[in-house]
Formats: sequence, C-alpha cells, structure tokens
Amino acid sequence: MDFSLTEEQRAVQEAAREFAAGEVDPIVDEHDETQTFPMDVIKKAGELGFLGIIFPEEYGGAGMGYVEYVLVIAELSKIDPSVGITIAAHNSLGTNHIYKFGNEEQRKRWVTPLASGDKIAAWGLTEPNAGSDAAGAQTKAERVEGGWVLNGIKQFTTHGSVGDTCVVMAVTDPDGPRAHNISAFVVERGMDGFRAGKKENKLGIRASDTAEVILEDCFVPESHLLGEEGEGFVQALQILDGGRISIAALGLGTAMGAYETALAYAKERQQFGRPIAQFQAIQFHLAEMATKIAAGEALTLAAAVAMDAGRPNASQLASEAKLFTGETSVFCSERGVQIHGGYGFVKDYRAEKFYRDAKINTIGEGTSEIQRLVIARNVLRG
Ligand SMILES: Cc1cc2nc3c(=O)[nH]c(=O)nc-3n(C[C@H](O)[C@H](O)[C@H](O)COP(=O)(O)OP(=O)(O)OC[C@H]3O[C@@H](n4cnc5c(N)ncnc54)[C@H](O)[C@@H]3O)c2cc1C
Repeated sequence: MDFSLTEEQRAVQEAAREFAAGEVDPIVDEHDETQTFPMDVIKKAGELGFLGIIFPEEYGGAGMGYVEYVLVIAELSKIDPSVGITIAAHNSLGTNHIYKFGNEEQRKRWVTPLASGDKIAAWGLTEPNAGSDAAGAQTKAERVEGGWVLNGIKQFTTHGSVGDTCVVMAVTDPDGPRAHNISAFVVERGMDGFRAGKKENKLGIRASDTAEVILEDCFVPESHLLGEEGEGFVQALQILDGGRISIAALGLGTAMGAYETALAYAKERQQFGRPIAQFQAIQFHLAEMATKIAAGEALTLAAAVAMDAGRPNASQLASEAKLFTGETSVFCSERGVQIHGGYGFVKDYRAEKFYRDAKINTIGEGTSEIQRLVIARNVLRG
C-alpha cells in the first residue's frame, strides 16, 4: 500500500528487508529448533542502527521516528518474529525506559551502549503473581545506606538471560498508595545478587530469549533509581504505550509472513490438475488475509504517525493497532496452515512456525483482553 512514505523511510524499509533476507532467513529454522538466541545476527542488526532506531544520535541511536521503527520491525518479523520481538523489546522497553526517565548522566551511561548495539536491554515488570495486574508487584526495594537492596523474581523477561542492562520495577513503599509505591531501577549483569533464573521453553518465538530474573539481596546504588521514587509503575505504563506500537508491527509482520508464504504455496501446489489458488475457497482465505493485513498496516502506521507527532490519541491508537494486528496474525497464520494442508502441519514449510509464533501477539505487553479494557477506558473518557 502507498502511505506516502518519504524516500528515507523507503530506504530504511528496504535495508531491513535486505537484512532479513540475507542475514536472518538462513538461520531461522535452526535457531527455532534449538531455542538459541541469534547473538551474531542481533549484533549485525546493531551495526545497521536497529538497536537504537528511536534514539537520538547523541546517545548512539539512529535518530529515527516511530514510522521507521514499525517499518523495520514488520520487515524483520515477516521473516522471523523472534528477531522482530528482540529488536522491539530492546528498543521500546529497557532502553526507552532509561532514555525517557533517566537523567543526563544515566542516559550517557546506559542508553549510549544500548542504542549503539554494544549491549542488550531487558525490562522486568511482570512477576509470577503479577501479570495483567502489574501494580500488584511483590519485588521489594529496601532503602539502605547509599542505595537500595532488591529482592524478588521477575517472570517472562525478554533478554532475562542474554541482557546486560535490566530495568526492574520494585515496591519501595509497601504501605504507600497502590501504583504510586513502585520505583524503577537499573540493574546490570555482573552485579552481586542479580542473575537469570529458568529459561522458558516456548511454543513460539523460540529464538528470542525469555527467562526469569532473580534478585537476591541485590544492592543497587542510589544513582540507579530512574526518575522519581514511587513513580516506576506510572513510568512503566507510558513505556508500554510506545511498546505496543512495536508489538503491533510484530503482529503485522507475522501476518504478512504467513500470508506471503501461503500465497506462494497456493500458486505452486497442484490438486485436481490445477494450482489450489484457482479454487474459490482458497481465494477467499487469501482475500480475507490480505484485507486484514491492509487494515492492520494502516492502523499501525496511523499509530506511529500519531506517536511521532505527539498526538494525544497515540496511546489509544497503539492499543487498537496492537489488538488488531495481534489477532490478525493469529487469524492469518491459522489460514496459512490451512492453505498448506498437511504440509502446514510439518516443519518443511514456515507456515507452522508462523502459527506458533503468532500467539505471543495476543499476550505480550498486555493481553488482547487488557487492550480492550485500555481502549474502552479511552472511549468512555472521550
Ligand atoms: C514470550 C514472552 C515475553 C515477555 N516479555 C516480557 C518482558 O520483557 N517484560 C515483562 O515485564 N513482561 C514480559 N512478558 C509478560 C507478559 O507481558 C504477560 O505474560 C502478560 O502481560 C500477561 O500476564 P500473565 O501472563 O500473568 O497473565 P494473567 O494476567 O494471569 O492473565 C491470564 C488471563 O486472564 C485475563 N485477564 C487478566 N486480568 C483481566 C481483566 N482485568 N479483565 C479481563 N481479563 C483479564 C488475561 O487477558 C489472560 O487471558 C512476556 C511474556 C511472554 C510470554
């Protein structure tokens, strides 16, 4: 579709497409099978600026906007949603939290190596007993001389085992008002009392790294507190607004990948003496997939444009785009398997991988149910 992208935006999209075809495509199946994080590929993505897309050049970033960001995530996710989510989580969650709420010294110290691709960011909000209800976090930070001591477990942390720099939300005032008693801290690999726990064995996006983060009497100096004490949860909600646009792009790319794979297969597979693409039943599957993808693309770009312009409706659009493309990716990948018939059920084709990978898009960074709540709240508020 023509969204009047600028020459520069098209060039960025093309660079991501070439990178996905040349560097990501050859390693997808092996890393999915072995559940290994493709560190070499992610480092190369860093050399292209993809680990710092939305950050200014003075902090090691590529200095681009959300439109370029969603174009890159969608192109990568078309080939491998694991790489898409890796780039999305690194940019939008850990790195952006420090960029948005860190002071100048903290930005220089942590954002620069993250945005330039030297280090990998993680972000821990979710806990074993606090997922959708993240304000119910139990990880504690107790004030001590010169800083804080952190104790607790963060669940399902993207880059929990490969990340170098992790932002964690912890309760700093157990008796304080709910949602205003949590603060955000930076913890770094190598600090005493900070380690990765169980690495998850996942249904999909298996090459992305998801692990527990365990904090055991982890001393964090005062200089690691981000922004105001007690405002960590409110900060996290703002970080998720930006994050949801990237998950919208992930859902869009996953849907596109599933669709393109199915379209090619439908033209090539012969039954009853003709390509299956000539059967109306298959054409209707493809038509519905193409229509939902077009709508998802328009909504995702609208959210990105609103984000770049700082419009007040950006947050609602981000939730709408995330909800729609997440569910579209599940729909399209299921139809993709159906179009492949038995070959969609085995690993000879990528259809089954898209089917497994798509499901995270209705769960991560707020489930589809939570997106509906967020959207409804905005709608009712007018
Ligand atoms: C691969 C992966 C990567 C992740 N990466 C990160 C990360 O980097 N950092 C991080 O902090 N978290 C991360 N998460 C966590 C993710 O954000 C949570 O899993 C998600 O928010 C849902 O929380 P939960 O799993 O505890 O589910 P629950 O909150 O227990 O939800 C279970 C079900 O109940 C529904 N539900 C809950 N509350 C309501 C309600 N009020 N109304 C209606 N329905 C409701 C949910 O929609 C869902 O269907 C990741 C998760 C996965 C699987």
